[in-house]
Amino acid sequence: MPIEIKFNAQGQSLGLRLSRSFAPTLKEDPTEAEVISHKLLIRAGFIRKLSAGIYSLLPFGLRSLRKLERIIRQEMDRAGALELLLPTVQPGELWKESGRWKYYGKELLRFHDRHNRDYIIGPTHEEVITDLARREIHSWRDLPMNLYQIQTKFRDEIRPRFGLMRGREFIMKDAYSFDADEAGAEQSYRAMYEAYNLIFQNCGLKFAVVEADSGAIGGSSSHEFMVLAKTGEDNLIFCDCGFAANQEKAELKDYATLAPEEMNQALEKIYTPNCHHVPELAALLDIPTGRIIKTLAFNAAGNPLLTLIPGDRKINLTKLKNACNGAEPRLLTPEETEKITGAPLGFIGPIKTKLRVLADLGVKRLDGGVIGAGEADWHYRHARPDRDFKVNQWLDLAIAENGDPCPRCGQPLSTQRGIEVGHIFKLGAKYSHALGALYSRADGLEAPLIMGCYGIGLGRTLAAAVEQNHDHNGIIWPLPLAPYEAAVLPLQVQNKNMTSAAETLFQELLNARVETVLDDRDERPGLKFKDADLIGYPFRITISEKSLALGQVELKRRNTQEITMLPLTSAAAVITQLRNETGITA
Ligand code: ATP
Ligand code: MG
Repeated sequence: MPIEIKFNAQGQSLGLRLSRSFAPTLKEDPTEAEVISHKLLIRAGFIRKLSAGIYSLLPFGLRSLRKLERIIRQEMDRAGALELLLPTVQPGELWKESGRWKYYGKELLRFHDRHNRDYIIGPTHEEVITDLARREIHSWRDLPMNLYQIQTKFRDEIRPRFGLMRGREFIMKDAYSFDADEAGAEQSYRAMYEAYNLIFQNCGLKFAVVEADSGAIGGSSSHEFMVLAKTGEDNLIFCDCGFAANQEKAELKDYATLAPEEMNQALEKIYTPNCHHVPELAALLDIPTGRIIKTLAFNAAGNPLLTLIPGDRKINLTKLKNACNGAEPRLLTPEETEKITGAPLGFIGPIKTKLRVLADLGVKRLDGGVIGAGEADWHYRHARPDRDFKVNQWLDLAIAENGDPCPRCGQPLSTQRGIEVGHIFKLGAKYSHALGALYSRADGLEAPLIMGCYGIGLGRTLAAAVEQNHDHNGIIWPLPLAPYEAAVLPLQVQNKNMTSAAETLFQELLNARVETVLDDRDERPGLKFKDADLIGYPFRITISEKSLALGQVELKRRNTQEITMLPLTSAAAVITQLRNETGITA
């Protein structure tokens, strides 16, 4: 029966016969895939690997991507942002102007053209957009302005992995706002914050917005949008009061330590042979690990330093980095530690050291404990800050853990894992200063443009959707991101009545603008069911000999597994209504 083709808003056909499709499904998990989304996107025929961190999107993968693009465009445009498309290849000169040529490191893919000029493939577009702005935005009348694109980036990640989650080549929506002043920039930032909330809501994903680390700049000038999934790489901290932060950044105030020591106990040197680690030392001395003050040696921008933290806590490297004015702290190797401190790892300590000492506030509350003696096989007991050793800086250095007090309200914090899919950031005048992007104010004076940047990883969002929504049979697409919303499965394609009933239903669904595949392949029912579950169409409609005899079809919803029998004649109407309940139509 000839089917009348209908098109969705992207100009794509609403329907597909699976006999004419290219969605190569696999029975087995691909060996190179470690995480669920990577396995399932390959097995369900959405992606194929070309090279490390570089993937082809097959037709089903591209359809899901187009849906996500549409959701993103709608909210970006609603927020007043304007879409453009910047080049992927960028002159190295611009990166030298901004200073990032030096500091971006090996993630930046550099090459020469035939004239031996430096070029890069864009990992991000601050330089290019600021260059455009300095040429084209001249007056306060042009502001505010927010420009965005959906485009391929390249970052030569050290460890590309997990398929679309951390690729080297990947598609990003990046937006850049330009304002006259901080107040304007704050409004642009808020608008993007709202738009991002709507985007991830419209994708049908469970997500959280957390305060992210914004480096040495400080303040809440950066938020991350996190899809919640047990398999996420990021640890997130939440409180019922609404506080939410990335563990990297979560501030920690007055967490519980052991009670302070008796004030007047004298410093005592104790023999602790071979006790290199906190648990061994605690066992030997028969004290809790929280009574030990752990000393670690780092190097930040060429300067060695010591950090002190209670033995039952972990040090937060992001907080340490911020305390070092943004210089990446590197834990010294055992050899370096011994060379610089004079003691082997496990026995180093702050007493009589010449190095700068940064200590966590928990150590202050502990006010005394066991600490490395700065000499192999020895520690001190009852070592008290200020009395026995000097601390150059007291600060919050510990990682916030489950049960720690919320920095806002003091109630216990809980942790969850998430996947960063979006990141919004206030840039201030960083790039406009470096590249000289100035505009003239109403009073005639020149001022730098105040910028913000806003990114969403599209491939990572699709992968995160799969991490959050799957079972042992396959993907459970949230309706808005499913490549097709419904699949019609006639189980015996030789049966003419069955085929004709299936095609009629297929046409009715297309007429109602439900994106549908017709599984017209001459395959066993078992294989059709398996593929439908693996690909994860939200609605599966089966026509068997038995159901046909009753004038019925079987509807199975992928998310709830709920099965209902529907009259053949009203099936399309019922499914259309169920689909429309989500509020998103083709
Ligand atoms: P990450 O900390 O995961 O490396 P990032 O801070 O480098 O991320 P941004 O520069 O803020 O990321 O990029 C914006 C968005 O682009 C991220 O929120 C993420 O969704 C996506 N993204 C970044 N790197 C990759 C990658 N290698 N593969 C896929 N998506 C990515
Ligand atoms: Mg990165």
